[in-house]
Amino acid sequence: MTIRTRFAPSPTGPLHIGGIRTALFNYLYSRHFGGQFLLRIEDTDRERSTAEATKGIIDSLDWIGLDRDEPTVFQSGRMDRHAAVARALLAAGKAYRCYCTADELAAERAQATLEKRVWRYDGRWRDRDPAEAPDGVTPVIRLKSERSGETVLDDLVQGPVRVANAELDDMIILRGDGTPMYNHSVVVDDRDMAITHVIRGDDHLTNTFRQLQVYRALGWEPPRFAHIPLIHGPDGKKLSKRHGAQFALEFRDMGFLPEALCNYLMRLGWSHGDLEVLGRDEAIRLFDVTDVNRGPSRMDYVKLTNLNGVYIRQADDGRLTGDVVERLANEHGLSAGPDAVARIRTLMPALKERAKTLVELAHAAAFLVRTVPLPMDTKAAAVLGPDAGPMLRAVAAELAGTDFSAPAIDAALHAFAERAGLKMGQVAQPLRAALTGSTVSPGIDATLAALGRDESLHRIAVAVADVNGP
Ligand code: GLU
Repeated sequence: MTIRTRFAPSPTGPLHIGGIRTALFNYLYSRHFGGQFLLRIEDTDRERSTAEATKGIIDSLDWIGLDRDEPTVFQSGRMDRHAAVARALLAAGKAYRCYCTADELAAERAQATLEKRVWRYDGRWRDRDPAEAPDGVTPVIRLKSERSGETVLDDLVQGPVRVANAELDDMIILRGDGTPMYNHSVVVDDRDMAITHVIRGDDHLTNTFRQLQVYRALGWEPPRFAHIPLIHGPDGKKLSKRHGAQFALEFRDMGFLPEALCNYLMRLGWSHGDLEVLGRDEAIRLFDVTDVNRGPSRMDYVKLTNLNGVYIRQADDGRLTGDVVERLANEHGLSAGPDAVARIRTLMPALKERAKTLVELAHAAAFLVRTVPLPMDTKAAAVLGPDAGPMLRAVAAELAGTDFSAPAIDAALHAFAERAGLKMGQVAQPLRAALTGSTVSPGIDATLAALGRDESLHRIAVAVADVNGP
């Protein structure tokens, strides 16, 4: 049997990280077994579904790298098929026409609520002669559900879950206007897509029992189900805006690497021993949905950020440079020419040691693209006091004759400091301020080497002129 899983989001808003984790578990599960992973957009709610949300979902999955094996299925394009299956159930006597009006049922429901009773449709049209149908009412089609016994779901995460069939009434599968109901459509789609395993949020457990009724009526073997717990905020409450970012693309914009977010979400609720840093291939090898915890997991933004730092340090320098160049253009309005790109690339091994997000990385690299006069932060301005001028002029003379490799620069600066009777910091900090506009940067030798001799000497000269005043 080929394992086939699917991710089936409703395109009513941006893709939540809970959704990303669901997609990820489906992806890992199918890949583990050499199977297939599909995407179905559940867009039958025409009022709430938008093309923009669909695009956001696809962009999010692409960003995370969750490739699908077949073209995306749009549920709305399959409504005729859903309706045909509903009519086949009717023809087979597994479903029936119900002529209750919406008003009639709404009144009953309201009365039950008033009396604090649970209202269920009582199946009054189940065995009634359609000849008694009132005029002018377009009937809905309802499924004949089992009335006694219980339905047991052997869930791969939750274990056995039981529901008494008496708790489920005869649900509508086709509305009066011929449009299918959600729980019916899902069954038909999962069957037609040959889905073997449905992994989804545990908020869908009730739907599953409804869907099992449809499978039973159709005589179709249901897939296996795994209901995974939701992701909560650090305080254990439902994850919301006040906890921080929630949407996949927000994390992208905040400078998270997709593989870091993936690793974090994967480990949230599923673990393999103490392994914290786990690449995609290894996760595919180790993942089993039955190892997912039953309890809700808590989002820990600090842990995610630290893990992102680990991934940034491991990431390819060329890739990071590309991302930083793009962020500098989009977020800082700084357009890097070829020289500036080369500087960023040269300093990247040192820059990435200190950054936990790509936003921090771009911020730290910005000075490499800027032109003089550099914006100075307060600490840098303080370091460039009146005493700094002569020292900077002397160190510039020294650097003018130095080979511009980081080790040679380091040696030259140490020799200079010693001769001048200064501590290394007394030399490096004014230099750093002159070169970067800040008191924080990678090692001064690497910073100078990345800027190159001409640009370094130019920046120092501008700073000296500034210190000395007009
Ligand atoms: N469309 C549902 C949702 O977005 C998922 C349904 C399913 O996975 O079966 O929550």
